[in-house]
Amino acid sequence: MKALYISGEWKESGTVYRNINPSDTGDCVDTYAVASAADVTAAVAAAQGALGEWSSSTPQQRFTALDFIGTEILDRKEELGRLLAREEGKTLPEATGEVARAGQIFKFFAGEAVRNSGEHIPSVRPGVEVDVFRQPIGVVALVTPWNFPIAIPSWKAAPALAFGNTVVLKPAELTPGCAWALAEIVSRSGLPKGAFNLVMGKGSVVGDALVRNSGVAGVSFTGSIEVGRSIAKTCADRLAKVQLEMGGKNPLVVLDDADLSVAVNAAVNGAYFSTGQRCTASSRLIVTAGIHDRFVAAIVEKIRSLKVDDALAPGTDIGPVVDETQLQKNLGYVETGKKEGAKLLHGGERLKRVKTGYYMTPALFTETGNAMRINREEIFGPVASVIRVKDYDEALAVANDTPFGLTSGICTTSLKYASHFRTHADSGMVMINLPTAGVDYHVPFGGRKGSSYGSREQGRAAAEFYTTVKTCYTAP
Ligand code: NAD
Repeated sequence: MKALYISGEWKESGTVYRNINPSDTGDCVDTYAVASAADVTAAVAAAQGALGEWSSSTPQQRFTALDFIGTEILDRKEELGRLLAREEGKTLPEATGEVARAGQIFKFFAGEAVRNSGEHIPSVRPGVEVDVFRQPIGVVALVTPWNFPIAIPSWKAAPALAFGNTVVLKPAELTPGCAWALAEIVSRSGLPKGAFNLVMGKGSVVGDALVRNSGVAGVSFTGSIEVGRSIAKTCADRLAKVQLEMGGKNPLVVLDDADLSVAVNAAVNGAYFSTGQRCTASSRLIVTAGIHDRFVAAIVEKIRSLKVDDALAPGTDIGPVVDETQLQKNLGYVETGKKEGAKLLHGGERLKRVKTGYYMTPALFTETGNAMRINREEIFGPVASVIRVKDYDEALAVANDTPFGLTSGICTTSLKYASHFRTHADSGMVMINLPTAGVDYHVPFGGRKGSSYGSREQGRAAAEFYTTVKTCYTAP
């Protein structure tokens, strides 16, 4: 059994979770301890206990710990990539890439720990000096989803620790393996006991107890909009700081003047890679009339060439869906799309492979309208729709007509349209001639409207959430 990590000790539990490989349901990755409410209380108390020591640690101590973690993750990226592919189902190259990114994130925030600086500002009053500096907020709860099981815990834990906070991490129930591996590395990084704690288990029990704990000063959450909304309400009640990253219904606009192969590659990557299980996935392909038929023919040809199979098998382009519930949800949306009058041009069926897993063919709908449910609700699977529009103006209006606003993309060779789109797209991130998914680790990440709430994650923007500003007046 892989244990909880509380106050620098490994703690087993009477209840365990069996972590099943979605590519092969006969393969149990491992068993993981499930935390009780008392374990959550103990983890928060441990984090509070470590706060004095860690918040007063030197930038060099923080650098050394984070650099150690980043180095080990990078050194073990093949092994951890296999674990990730096995428990979550993204392909081995995708999984290895995610692990490498987690290592780079720790390296980046190791640097941020020593770069943390303030401002010295002349006072408007004679004989007074003003200094503005950042301090940690306290104990932070990190609640993370299954689809990036090492990158997301890393992009929350690394800045939290870099700025002197202490952490309780609650990973998704479906993917505890990568979070446990991260905790094991952290346990050897020289952090004080209790500075980093891991509690695993169900969101409705363990996650809920964590976000309600009055010892938690801030909650950084990534997941669905429903859970995000309820966490925001809980935090508002006790005025705790909160940051939410949630769903997407990201548009990729393809204009008549686009390079067809660039557009098709961006659409296929954005819509179907990582089995479409990315908050940044391109689920709405908004295509102008002049290129529509050529684009549809080329994308269908490309989709047909994709191999859906075991995430660990060489040559697999698309791994399985994460579990049976998500697979049934995806197939349900395929039926909804058909009932709404969309034309299912390709895929959308359950697939059998040598091993029993949650496989489905990538689905493409055409002749869809932006008001259809398949174009308004996040599906979170390999299902994309083509929406035909007459021109750029209509494309932009359709792209922005969504309750979400995480990322949006445009494929065009026109500087005029690219420039207009990046100003007027109502999303936190904009991609030009690139997939809507796939971001750098050193710049802000986040969206607008129903996709995000609170300050941005990652890059230098991460300091906004993980620190609080102090303004100090001195009369020397
Ligand atoms: P989810 O909301 O079901 O769960 C996310 C986390 O919250 C899990 O750890 C879960 O156990 C926990 N949780 C569930 N109920 C809780 C409660 N009542 N109190 C406290 N914690 C609770 O999401 P998921 O299914 O794991 O992930 C998929 C979702 O995540 C999608 O909507 C996707 O778009 C979103 N996502 C967003 C981003 C982003 O950065 N915007 C990135 C990745 C995933």
